[in-house]
Amino acid sequence: MDIILKNALIVTQNEQRDIFPGDIWIAGNRIKALGPRIEQPGVETLDLSGLTIIPGLIQSHVHLCQALFRNLADDLELLDWLTRYIWPMEMHHSPESLQASARLGLYEMLTSGVTTVLDMGCAAHMDVVFEELDNSGIRAFCGKVMMDHGEQAYQEATGDCLASTEDLIRRWHQAAEGRIQYALAPRFVLSCSMPLWEGVQGLADDYDLLIHTHSSENRTELALVEAQTGYANVEFFVRNRLASPRLCLAHCIWLSPEEHEFLAEYDIKVLHCPGANLKLGSGFAAVPDMLRRGINVSLGSDGAPCNNNLDIFSDMRLAALIHKPTFGVTAITAGDVFDMATLNGAKALGLADQTGSIEAGKLADLAILDLHKVHATPVDNVISQIVYSAQSRDVQHVMVNGEWVVQNRVPLAYPDEREIVSEAQQACAALQERLS
Ligand SMILES: [Zn+2]
Repeated sequence: MDIILKNALIVTQNEQRDIFPGDIWIAGNRIKALGPRIEQPGVETLDLSGLTIIPGLIQSHVHLCQALFRNLADDLELLDWLTRYIWPMEMHHSPESLQASARLGLYEMLTSGVTTVLDMGCAAHMDVVFEELDNSGIRAFCGKVMMDHGEQAYQEATGDCLASTEDLIRRWHQAAEGRIQYALAPRFVLSCSMPLWEGVQGLADDYDLLIHTHSSENRTELALVEAQTGYANVEFFVRNRLASPRLCLAHCIWLSPEEHEFLAEYDIKVLHCPGANLKLGSGFAAVPDMLRRGINVSLGSDGAPCNNNLDIFSDMRLAALIHKPTFGVTAITAGDVFDMATLNGAKALGLADQTGSIEAGKLADLAILDLHKVHATPVDNVISQIVYSAQSRDVQHVMVNGEWVVQNRVPLAYPDEREIVSEAQQACAALQERLS
């Protein structure tokens, strides 16, 4: 696409955090230039007067395969939630139900301004999810969940798990001209054997992949990890040479002071999911401390059944609010949280030089907001407005890789919301039937 977006308020998230009224010139899939006024005869223009352009938001921990389980597993702690509901439902996905789940989640995230996701899939039928990621136009890192240890019913044989993972890597890593990348997804320490972790490390080295997993979400989980391995979660990764800047750990709530040091020392990425942490009663990650130590903390909604939305505006607001009673009202600012949802998300995924801010040369991943709404008025500081008072329904248009994926609140891949809803409702009923 070659287009100049004109007359918007541009929230750049560049090093100086410049915010100014002006124009952005998109050429192909990248931002060619931005400034107060760009005139380029022959290039199409779009007048965005009154609208605000922000970097596309980054959801760095989600499970598209669980979108279909929304409202089906409430008021439970993590291990009960997993073993009684989530694992059985993931096991009973058909390609059709998995597709309906992915569409439901992608619809919700695209229309809330998300341009990049880090997704943990389920164990089977994952081609369907990759096809839907391709079709939706979103930028994505995704991988099948890996489980070869623990509860018998949900285990794959180690060799099969690694082989099917490598098969998916060969077919989907760097697909859609690099818009889709593979991220290894061992579920958590309790469901993975040492040979599996060794295989994961080997694949990460061979293909230069992220390792995306959960860590220290819940106190019972931590106690079981310590009993099984002799180490706490982050310690386990360090002692087994899995700690690196490519290691992305969701949650990181119950950590020792030494483990906080490890996060900083090894540049391990923390994926903070405030909504899910509250709903499962898991606890509060020490995010203000982590940020002060220079640890990269990004933001995720986690799964629809533990949130129960995939609405990054809701999670930005929660991230800004929930740490204030413990750490003080100034310990985490709206600016910190907006960084988490943009720049830090890009850093977590190894895309810091590609996305997360609006700068010449970066990929054209943008969300365009209409903040002239009662709930967001009046405005003094636009970053506070976005984090504390804006809502996902303020997102008007979304661009990924220089292509429109949402226009006037409608995702171009999924123009009929009623169809997505009715397909999901039917797929959910069929899945419940298979489960019973
Ligand atoms: Zn998760």
